[in-house]
Amino acid sequence: MTNKELGIVDCLCPNVILVDAYQRYKEVAEQTDAHVFVVFTEQGELMGLVTERQAALFPNRIFADLLLRRQPPPVDNSVPILSTLNRMEQDSVNHLMVVDGKGQYVGIVSRLSIITALVERERDLRKDLEHLLLDYRRELENRRIATAVFEATSEGIMVTDAKQRIQLVNRAFSKTTGWAVKEAIGQTPHILHSGKHDEAFYKQMWDCLQETGAWEGEIWNRRKSGDIYPEWLHINAIRNDQGEVRYYAGVLSDATHHQEMRARLHHLAYHDALTGLPNRQLFLDRLTQAVAQARRDGDSLALLFIDLDGFKEVNYTLGHLVGDKLLCQIANLLQSAVRENDTVARLGGDEFTVITQTGTDQTGVITIAEKLLSTLTHQFNIDGHELFVSASIGISRFPEDGDSPEVLLMEADNAMYQAKAIGRGRYHFYSASGHNRFVEKVQMSARLRQALAEKEITIAWQPQVDMATGSVVGMDALARWSPDGKAVSPDLFITLAEQTGLINQLGEQVLQIAAGQAAAILAEYPRAGTPLSFAINLSPFQVNSAGKDRDTDNLADTMLGILTQHGLPTNVVELELTETAVTSHREGISDIFQTLGDAGIQIAVDDFGTGCSNLATIKQLPVHKLKLDRSLVMDLCDDPTDREIATAVITMARALNLKVVAEGVETEEQAAILRTMGCDIAQGYLYSRPLPMTELRSWLAKQAD
Ligand code: C2E
Ligand code: CA
Repeated sequence: MTNKELGIVDCLCPNVILVDAYQRYKEVAEQTDAHVFVVFTEQGELMGLVTERQAALFPNRIFADLLLRRQPPPVDNSVPILSTLNRMEQDSVNHLMVVDGKGQYVGIVSRLSIITALVERERDLRKDLEHLLLDYRRELENRRIATAVFEATSEGIMVTDAKQRIQLVNRAFSKTTGWAVKEAIGQTPHILHSGKHDEAFYKQMWDCLQETGAWEGEIWNRRKSGDIYPEWLHINAIRNDQGEVRYYAGVLSDATHHQEMRARLHHLAYHDALTGLPNRQLFLDRLTQAVAQARRDGDSLALLFIDLDGFKEVNYTLGHLVGDKLLCQIANLLQSAVRENDTVARLGGDEFTVITQTGTDQTGVITIAEKLLSTLTHQFNIDGHELFVSASIGISRFPEDGDSPEVLLMEADNAMYQAKAIGRGRYHFYSASGHNRFVEKVQMSARLRQALAEKEITIAWQPQVDMATGSVVGMDALARWSPDGKAVSPDLFITLAEQTGLINQLGEQVLQIAAGQAAAILAEYPRAGTPLSFAINLSPFQVNSAGKDRDTDNLADTMLGILTQHGLPTNVVELELTETAVTSHREGISDIFQTLGDAGIQIAVDDFGTGCSNLATIKQLPVHKLKLDRSLVMDLCDDPTDREIATAVITMARALNLKVVAEGVETEEQAAILRTMGCDIAQGYLYSRPLPMTELRSWLAKQAD
């Protein structure tokens, strides 16, 4: 916007036509709005003005003749326009000629052109003013916003001049530091110094500010109250156009919360989120420290590796939520059972460790291990589930067993596996021979994997006979594995398969073989009435992995597919699942059973009488049979309690309309008792050992005779 000064030149009339007579002018005058004529001599000398009115009065006179009238003198182009306008007023003329300093013609001004120019200038001025006003308002608004932000921001702001005199602070500054605005202004940031940083710290800060114009970092400051607190500070140097520092602006936020957060993150990184115990990382640090200190002081220490027995089953059968709660309670118990200086850690899953540096001679450690075992052998009540837990503990000692943290951990872990192998709920000191057995187990699982790949698993059939008639009613498929010709007990390799995740593959292979052979037996030994039934064992881990895939039909589909493939009718197939697995409330299990039950498959509850069954659950599932556990049958003749349990099971089964199969019947005496109790079916060495297919054929042939 320019506030322009008007001169006469700005007011010159635009449409001045230089003609010598009005007649001639008229032709052009139609298209123009010229109202005055300038008359020159033929030599170009300026003579004067003729107005349109004069010209119109004397249309046939040439303009030179009309100039007889007194001509007002021309006006110099340096005369201000307002004086020019006054002159026109005084002389009662509407037009004036304009000449330059040398008297040369420049143009004509009219009152109208001056007034128009003046009005335009007025308009321009007003516009300029409006724009200025608008800019000013914007500026005011911006300042208002800046002030509001300055005051409202949660970060403290402090502005000092180049000499570090505080010029400006906001409310947040006062809130954080305790210094009121009035108190702070005029002071230097020295009022905030905590004394926690040395000169080098501040020097580095100033060097950085000079060099880069900014500094950022954590700093300990002191409040007015004297409290020292951590603060996150950001300083910027503000320079003028010449590049000289005029101000420093510091933005500061109380970092106490950040510190707490960092401490929390640090805690999370070194502690187990579920139980709050030190995690593997912190445990290894502590073990390393403990070993170093024991070595320095000529001391000893013991490492106890604790693994819960059957925890995976709890997780699988009752769900992870129950499992997690159990782990938390166990963590608390462990912590309360050891001394304050001992470290209890959770390495993951159901594995815990204890590092103890006190009383680490053999008897001392035994006392600790026994205390831990008895603390854990405990009945837990979690969400209405009564759970009995036991643990196995492996122990290694420094310096006897090893002198590095890694070796001690590995040995304690091995010893724990040895403890489990001997029987659960025990502790075991590391020993080299035990370690060798452990290595054997690892090798065996590799061998089992290979066996599955090469289809080395076979099956044996154990017949089941009707106790009333003595005739065969079905048979039980039992997996067999003889690597290098030496049979391995199914209890061993089935557990191994469950532990190593090979159980699905194994289960599927057994079902393939069993379905094929069962179909062949049905064809070879046709019989009237109820057909023979073929029982197949199902591991709870198989059901779990199907459920875990969120594809509960997966296992059922696979099984039904295999039966169809071998043309085996579903109504002759029976699945055996242990009591604990059946009665679990696990998601997925009842769906699978329902699908299989709907397809016509029978379900038998295996090892019945060993767990604490919930009858209501059994009733909800499509269960057809109960298999009385061998441990109950074994002592039937001598143990009245077992006899009572067996009687109760049989009575209950009848009430539920279920058949009962007694397992492990070895003697006529046992058979007689079971018969009087009303047991329907028996299976055991008394009738036959589990037989491979060829021997089963001869056995069946003999039965038929
Ligand atoms: P189980 O299902 O209770 O099978 C019966 C076990 O008792 C078999 O042991 C059988 O040989 C044994 N037995 C039968 N009659 C007598 C007897 O009169 N006296 C004695 N002392 N024992 C008898 P086995 O074959 O060693 O199998 C052990 C366990 O391994 C089975 O117990 C079963 O739980 C599991 N198992 C076997 N095959 C498979 C399989 O294909 N899949 C799954 N998931 N588990 C299997
Ligand atoms: Ca069984």
